Amino acid sequence: EKSSTYRSLTSESAKDLIESVDAFLFDCDGVIWKGDKLIDGVPEALQALRSMGKRLVFVTNNSTKSRKQYARKFGTLGLHVTEEEIFSSSFAAAMFLKLNGFSRDKKVYVIGEEGILEELALAGFTGLGGPEDGKKTIQLKSNFLFEHDKDVGAVIVGLDQYINFYKLQYATLCIRENPGCLFIATNRDAVGHLTDLQEWPGAGCMVAAVCGSVQKEPVVVGKPSTFLMDFLLERYKIDTSKMCMVGDRLDTDILFGRNAGCKTLLVLSGVTALSDLNDSSNTIHPDYYTSNVSDIVLLSRK
Ligand code: PLP
Ligand code: CA
Repeated sequence: EKSSTYRSLTSESAKDLIESVDAFLFDCDGVIWKGDKLIDGVPEALQALRSMGKRLVFVTNNSTKSRKQYARKFGTLGLHVTEEEIFSSSFAAAMFLKLNGFSRDKKVYVIGEEGILEELALAGFTGLGGPEDGKKTIQLKSNFLFEHDKDVGAVIVGLDQYINFYKLQYATLCIRENPGCLFIATNRDAVGHLTDLQEWPGAGCMVAAVCGSVQKEPVVVGKPSTFLMDFLLERYKIDTSKMCMVGDRLDTDILFGRNAGCKTLLVLSGVTALSDLNDSSNTIHPDYYTSNVSDIVLLSRK
């Protein structure tokens, strides 16, 4: 019976969770904030968990910002979170290149925004493309030959609100004309909260566009990839059984935690409704679900 595989968080299970967990991994959008709006009760909850000595880690698939930019966003919302506590898919992409020994003599073509370019630069890599290429257009006429930099050894695709035909042709040529070119996706989220009132096409849309022309699948470095989890575990050296992943998406957050053997808590403050969780087509089950991240602390006090 599915109902026995996950349960609504109770006073007893919240106490249990707090007692058995050393590190809480928090997804950001839908858990901490919705777009630019802080979710109710978050500052108090984070403060309470910190005062109990819990390690807090923030993991976001939104690649449009760098860790530095996220630290600033947390600050703007009145939360004190350091860069070291933040794992964005933009940072993951740069770390993937670094850990795979990607040569600094090669270049990286980016379909994506400032966050990816900033993380590449911080890691010592040369990024091309990004917002700058958003203004470029193509005149499709005879004898026109599209030129691209032959030193590109990797293409990174993330959310890009300035995606255009120029960028698609650039990325396509890099990958199709160089069999050794890495094809990296920051994440494949179907949609994201670019604003707080509605969802917009997510990086999955840009990734699918490139998949369509190159006929290859990318390496995904954000949630639910094992790359990001392994990187996190290497950094923090915490047993996964003492970690809890808290998120609002089943196919990224909860899968990410489950694959690694973490405890998982689904919050209903984001994109997933209780009816999605209970839908017979859903195969991803969290250990617990609750309405809001603040419940962890509030219920444990009852
Ligand atoms: N990608 C984009 C473009 C987004 O706007 C969002 C959420 O706003 C996400 C991904 C998901 O981010 P998170 O992993 O923090 O929920
Ligand atoms: Ca989320």
